[in-house]
Amino acid sequence: MRKDDCLFCKIAAGEIPSTTLYENDDFRVFFDINPASRGHCLIIPKQHYDTIFDLDGTSAASLFTLATKVARGLKAELNCEGMNLVQNNGTIAGQTVFHFHLHLIPRYTGDTVNVQWQPGEADMDELKALAESVGSHI
Ligand code: AMP
Ligand code: ZN
Repeated sequence: MRKDDCLFCKIAAGEIPSTTLYENDDFRVFFDINPASRGHCLIIPKQHYDTIFDLDGTSAASLFTLATKVARGLKAELNCEGMNLVQNNGTIAGQTVFHFHLHLIPRYTGDTVNVQWQPGEADMDELKALAESVGSHI
């Protein structure tokens, strides 16, 4: 399924150009136009899903299998020291394009990438209650 006026549906279909490093029937992998680091790329399903809340498990499994191959390809060519996988869902989480996408961001000493949060302190009673309530949905 595709969504009208979705930028990544158009990129997926090749209607808007992208620097694609890999595609198959289900996915396209292309370089981010405003890279956080050298080699920053995005994996998108060709089907439209707004967020992870809509993505089905089979597509997610295939997408992550592909991510392992892309990650190894980037590492082999770019000699990066590490890699962040980032996946934003919702405006609050920093999502700007509402077509599911996974960022692969190679990391290098001295780069300017910033994927950080302030560590909090767990309330163990609350964690146990959440483990039960959230776990019951899985
Ligand atoms: P997010 O903030 O997680 O929704 O990420 C959206 C990403 O899409 C950003 O990193 C943008 O730089 C990238 N982006 C937006 N338009 C294009 C485009 N036409 N080609 C490649 N990347 C794009
Ligand atoms: Zn779309």
